[in-house]
Amino acid sequence: TKATFAGIKEKEPVVDAFLTLNEEKALQTAREIDAQGIDADNVLAGIPIGIKDNIVTKDLRTTAASKMLENFEPIYDATVMEKLQAAQMINVGKLNMDEFAMGSSTETSAFKKTKNAWDQTKVPGGSSGGSAAAVASGEVLASLGSDTGGSIRQPAAFNGIVGMKPTYGRVSRYGLIAFASSLDQIGPFTRTVKDNALVLNAISGQDARDFTTSAQPVPDFTQGIADGVKGMKIAVPKEYLGEGVAEDVKAAIKNAITTFETLGAKVEEVSLPHSKYGVGVYYIIASSEASSNLERFDGIRYGYRAPDVKTLEEVYVKSRSQGFGDEVKRRIMLGTFSLSAGTYDAFFKKAAQVRTLICQDFAKVYQDYDLILGPTAPTVAYGLGEKIDDPVTMYMNDILTIPTNLAGLPGMSIPAGFSQGLPIGLQLIAPQFAEQTLYRAGYAFE
Ligand code: GLN
Repeated sequence: TKATFAGIKEKEPVVDAFLTLNEEKALQTAREIDAQGIDADNVLAGIPIGIKDNIVTKDLRTTAASKMLENFEPIYDATVMEKLQAAQMINVGKLNMDEFAMGSSTETSAFKKTKNAWDQTKVPGGSSGGSAAAVASGEVLASLGSDTGGSIRQPAAFNGIVGMKPTYGRVSRYGLIAFASSLDQIGPFTRTVKDNALVLNAISGQDARDFTTSAQPVPDFTQGIADGVKGMKIAVPKEYLGEGVAEDVKAAIKNAITTFETLGAKVEEVSLPHSKYGVGVYYIIASSEASSNLERFDGIRYGYRAPDVKTLEEVYVKSRSQGFGDEVKRRIMLGTFSLSAGTYDAFFKKAAQVRTLICQDFAKVYQDYDLILGPTAPTVAYGLGEKIDDPVTMYMNDILTIPTNLAGLPGMSIPAGFSQGLPIGLQLIAPQFAEQTLYRAGYAFE
């Protein structure tokens, strides 16, 4: 743990991944674990881990990278934090992100700009950009992020590491500051596929405090990890290698397909015809849920309250106007509009219907295939500042990751080569609760 903090101090000036360090308490926990002794079959014991700053940590500042929660110290731990403690992992601190996880580049953070671990002029991706950059730069071996429309997989791709969004319901969302409750999932970032499986082992499982967690038994995700992909049937949606995907990314994915074939998998082209509506559907559903979830930040119950207010109305209006950044306000307005009486049928209801069609596309493919393969993101990491003023282009970049969230499926990004010195991510998507298949394929490939 001491060495980890020494490394963080050396690397932070380069990547700017952390918002809060937990040094004193982390060293204290490490000493306690030393004194207690390490359980021989707990391979995670004593390993430092970083935490995305939308996961609440008792008595440790949790901001969601928003001015709204700048000085918020939660009075309880998220379920995943309790589980990491039970596994004797050590929380070293809280990682930067897009404000309330809304964004794809970590540039909507109210506090700082995190840099890509490979090139400091490039974005780290988002919204879990801090979680990815901290692992890729070697500050920590593992971190937790959250993924609503790609926020674990895309930054993993941009930083050349492994990122897993588990099946919806696999990991408790209790204590995850809600963005879009029907889409959010917490998952691990690591350097290797096996490490990732180990961390997912620790955080998974049903939780009485989150009714959407599943009663499905949690297997040991490392079990069978080395069994290879011989005979596995892999589908490549033609929409995932179509227009808008950069040539260098396409070339890396084609190489990956050849590798899987050499390893004995059968790879075939399929179609997910409704995936082209994914971005539109997502920005209606996610923003609608966000507009409702963010109602609680009213200047009274949590966080920031505007000074010099005279009426109750002014407490709400001024606190929210000053506490939220532009991107968050944009989502609240879009969501409120979609849910309004006059527009609900044409927007929210229609989006929910098309979401079902997207789910059915996947179900049809999984009748014949074990996995879906494609790129994680249409391009490698772009320049800091390059897209921040163009929200629609930014939204369109999520086209390859969003359908997975809409269908509640597990998806993983693993490194698949470089272009111009920047990593390219390969995305694997499995049927619900088939994370083991993802790890087996990822392990064979890496
Ligand atoms: N980039 C997407 C958005 O801005 C996804 C974010 C996420 O997964 N949290 O909503």
